[in-house]
Amino acid sequence: MGWRTEPTVVSDAGRDRSTDGCGEETGSAMPIDFEIEPEFQEKLDWIDEFMKAEVEPLDLYFRGEVSPFDKGNELAQSLVRPLQRQVQEQELWACHIGPELGGRGYGQVKLALMNELLGRSSWAPSVFGCQAPDSGNAEILAHYGTDEQKAKYLQPLLDGEISSTYSMTEPQAGSDPNYFTCQARRDGDEWVITGEKWFASNYSLAEFLIVMVITNADVPVYKGSSMMLVPSDADGLELVRNVHLGGGRGGGDDGGHAYLRFNDVRVPADNLLGDEGSGFKIAQTRLGGGRVHHGMRSVGMAQRALDMMCERVLSRETKGSLLADKQAIQHWVADSWIQLQQFRLQVLYTAWLIDQTKRSSGDPRGDYAKVRQHIAGVKVATPKVLIDIVYRALHVHGSLGVSNEMPLIGMWTGAPVMGIADGPTEVHKDTIAKTVLKGYEPHDGLWPTAHIPTRVEAARAHIEARLEHEIANL
Ligand SMILES: Cc1cc2nc3c(=O)[nH]c(=O)nc-3n(C[C@H](O)[C@H](O)[C@H](O)COP(=O)(O)OP(=O)(O)OC[C@H]3O[C@@H](n4cnc5c(N)ncnc54)[C@H](O)[C@@H]3O)c2cc1C
Repeated sequence: MGWRTEPTVVSDAGRDRSTDGCGEETGSAMPIDFEIEPEFQEKLDWIDEFMKAEVEPLDLYFRGEVSPFDKGNELAQSLVRPLQRQVQEQELWACHIGPELGGRGYGQVKLALMNELLGRSSWAPSVFGCQAPDSGNAEILAHYGTDEQKAKYLQPLLDGEISSTYSMTEPQAGSDPNYFTCQARRDGDEWVITGEKWFASNYSLAEFLIVMVITNADVPVYKGSSMMLVPSDADGLELVRNVHLGGGRGGGDDGGHAYLRFNDVRVPADNLLGDEGSGFKIAQTRLGGGRVHHGMRSVGMAQRALDMMCERVLSRETKGSLLADKQAIQHWVADSWIQLQQFRLQVLYTAWLIDQTKRSSGDPRGDYAKVRQHIAGVKVATPKVLIDIVYRALHVHGSLGVSNEMPLIGMWTGAPVMGIADGPTEVHKDTIAKTVLKGYEPHDGLWPTAHIPTRVEAARAHIEARLEHEIANL
């Protein structure tokens, strides 16, 4: 696999340093290499063909009326299962997880290249065994579940037989967990959960939930919260209502986003995942990966929009010439291509950095916290790239572009969702700014270090001293 880089890269602190990209000095020179191994390119070619021939037709056949998460839909499953088997035979199943869990452990760069192709279809992640939130939930269960829980939930999840939900957001608080109130108190061998959760995706199709709850209200929420496993049919778990995305998206028979009420829901003590108080540490692992995977798939979606734009402007004529011959349109094509190139490089570089943290930390999952700034950068860029490119593609199609006979309006209304789900853009920008600023120091004195008169004065003094020295040595 290519994608190696010179040692001088932009470090986590935002300034050029000689590092391996993870804040560690390496000193060893490596070539930049963007080539893809021929064996893996063959896999990518297979995926590309398979997507066109078998997976994309599922989106057209079901037209959003059946959710890929609905494992109880026999028609859909009878079509999906043979495709999943082909993916497994190609050794492309659940590539986000390590071989110990039945995945390939290909690493994030290969995953990024795969996900670019998968981003063309809403069914693809299920066909390839890497659909969120099941992918992240499986990782949590693998590391923190008991043997019994693994047998009951993890194995069928990895086998694509059941779906799951991740539930953290509350009706009164999403981006700021300091306002979370849903609590679990210990009662003998059980935890008793009380409170509400909001926008728990796919709950109505899920077998179980992983829920973030406060287990110690006497310490800050980031230290007093824990993750807990809750069966979807637990006594006292009430579905207040199922919310769907607006604008005609997901209004059909999809899993929706549940408003849930926990009325003293009791679960066994060992349903606690990881240590008590480690909820946010666990969340970081799953959300970090999830955010960058959305970015990878969005590269594919933006590419698809650009493909549609180019085809249309080469086909449609107005005022005596093709749209492609008009300068305004040419600039849109160029702007879109440049934006997509920049975004793709950003996503792939972030994927590469995550892979590097595996090497340096020895943790096969990678250390997402070390590359938080880069993951946040991908998260912030994703909706903007989609909104811009999809909008241009839609606009050049005129009335057809906004109609229900093209996928563009659906793609465009879906783009802002990327700026909210998994945390809003502003919060991720805060993260980036804080990390970038850590690499700088305030400057004492009235004038900044770049102040020209001050620098001229210093340069003059320096050069005059040198001249005196040179003349003295003549
Ligand atoms: C499609 C979709 C699926 C989702 N699935 C799940 C799921 O499965 N499980 C789950 O737990 N949650 C899920 N969510 C919820 C998601 O995580 C939250 O919507 C997100 O964290 C934002 O929280 P909020 O909606 O409460 O918005 P708020 O926290 O109320 O924020 C609203 C707005 O306030 C502004 N804002 C917030 N913070 C700042 C700041 N620091 N500075 C400046 N402005 C700020 C931003 O403009 C932001 O968009 C999903 C959301 C969507 C859209």
